This record gives sequence, structure tokens and C-alpha cells, in this order.
Amino acid sequence: MAYEIHEHCTGCGICLSVCPNYAITEGAPVYKINHWFCTECVGYSDEPQCAEVCPDDAIGPSGSAFALLLPNPV
Ligand code: SF4
Ligand code: SF4
Repeated sequence: MAYEIHEHCTGCGICLSVCPNYAITEGAPVYKINHWFCTECVGYSDEPQCAEVCPDDAIGPSGSAFALLLPNPV
């Protein structure tokens, strides 16, 4: 599984610099996580770093209840 970014991302870019796998890219209108590269930070940190730093709580596990609560997940 991987993490994903949802539509209330404001594009602040903070998450870009913390991903150990360079899995996050700038996108329009919201940033995106490449699911092939995201390891959920396993072996790097106890917590997914992108979700930890996002000021808008726009990042969560893909396919989770988190995603289902939000409209039009990307
Ligand atoms: S969970 Fe970790 S590996 Fe996955 S996108 Fe976020 S920072 Fe990168
Ligand atoms: S930190 Fe959150 S709001 Fe900022 S670009 Fe990443 S997902 Fe979007």
C-alpha cells in the first residue's frame, strides 16, 4: 500500500523535501505520490513523513477510511 494526496492539498510543497524515496511530485492542482515509489516510510521512520509534515492533513493511506471521507481522491 502507499499513501496518497487529496484535493485539499494547497500545494505548499513541504512534503516534497521529506520523502526518502522522492515519491512526491508537484501536480496540478494538487501534489501527487507515485505509488510505485512510496514505501510508507517503512525502514526509514516509524511514521509516514509526508503525512507528519502536511499542514492541511491532505495525506493518508490510499484506499483507507481516510480516503473514503474525502471527495474525489486523486
Ligand atoms: S509515506 Fe514516506 S515514502 Fe510514502 S510518499 Fe510519504 S514520505 Fe514518501
Ligand atoms: S504538505 Fe500537504 S498541502 Fe503541502 S504540498 Fe504536500 S500534500 Fe499538499
